[in-house]
Amino acid sequence: MKKSVYLDNAATTPLLPEVIELMNDIMKNQFGNPSSIHEEGRKARAIIEDARKTVARAIGASIGEIFFTSGGTESNNWALKGAVRDLGIKRIISSPTEHHCVLHSLQSIEAHYDVTLIFLHTDQLGHIDYTQLEDLLADSTVPTLVSLMHANNEMGTLHDIERVGQLCHQYGALFHSDTVQTIGHYPLDVQDLYITFLSGSAHKFHGPKGVGFLYINSNHFIKPYIDGGSQERNMRGGTENIYGIAGMAKALELAMDQLDSRRAHIESLRCYFVQKLTDTFGDIQFNGDWENGLYTVLNVSFPPSDRSDLLLILLDIAGIRASGGSACSSGAETHSHVLQAIQADPARKAVRFSFSHFNTAGEIDYVVEQLKTIFSQKATV
Ligand code: PLP
Repeated sequence: MKKSVYLDNAATTPLLPEVIELMNDIMKNQFGNPSSIHEEGRKARAIIEDARKTVARAIGASIGEIFFTSGGTESNNWALKGAVRDLGIKRIISSPTEHHCVLHSLQSIEAHYDVTLIFLHTDQLGHIDYTQLEDLLADSTVPTLVSLMHANNEMGTLHDIERVGQLCHQYGALFHSDTVQTIGHYPLDVQDLYITFLSGSAHKFHGPKGVGFLYINSNHFIKPYIDGGSQERNMRGGTENIYGIAGMAKALELAMDQLDSRRAHIESLRCYFVQKLTDTFGDIQFNGDWENGLYTVLNVSFPPSDRSDLLLILLDIAGIRASGGSACSSGAETHSHVLQAIQADPARKAVRFSFSHFNTAGEIDYVVEQLKTIFSQKATV
């Protein structure tokens, strides 16, 4: 029987049964508008405020610093554009390997505001140049925001956000981090990081799609990105996505409770996969700093072959879901800006495999068998 193996967890993760159950219960029983002052409204409001407590606790924030959004894209747009519009930022330092929602927000900021954008040099593993960052910060007193993701979504390289935060603190810059790929996968505490804005998205840790949050440090409040009613303490207009918010909080709570056991399982699977791939294909490359990187992601460049162009399709036919880059680009199969930035060999097909605690060693065996078959066949088209 054909298997179905889902190895695209950096694009999105399956919902946990506990999350579905909770969301179903709220959909059935709690239809109130959280802004209504009657009992149905108050019950809905309580659900949202409980969720806020859970999210705040998970990252060491205070509840007044957590704002619910429609996901990572909105959170990143809000932080970056708000910092320029409301906090007088005139210079933004970032990296060419950021997610498109950050890069395109920066382009839009550049088009509309008098702001200088600087992209740090990136080495072949995807690490930024910390000395360049420090030199830039030390060299100027222009109000500056540093925007650097925690883990790269395509190759998993981790930026040292503790070090970046220290540098920002030392030189008086603000710091935004897109932590969409690491929330729920690493313990992150905003008390230990000199961080101004931090973004999270529920569907990357087995919560629902279309919901996320932005942490805004209380010393650097920005104005709403979406104008409207007084929801989110006047910070984001629009009736709240109550099921989504509750589902996100539940998923995050479970992710934090089970972080160590999930991590150990995924790390051992990924290690097993690396070993099997290396044994099977002598000439294989792993992109990014995979040994020290995000343990849920493995970006693999296969040997040049006439099967390369069809690889993702052939894997899909075999029931294996993986990706050529980030989800937004995978449908279009455009060349990845991340792999370009690290100067990965364009003659080799790169595939991002990304794992969750639902994956098994048997699935890894199946994937390697299928890869072996695909690469041993001759192309017929
Ligand atoms: N940032 C990173 C690093 C991501 O991987 C993604 C999603 O792929 C996003 C932001 C966007 O998040 P969302 O899908 O919640 O808008």
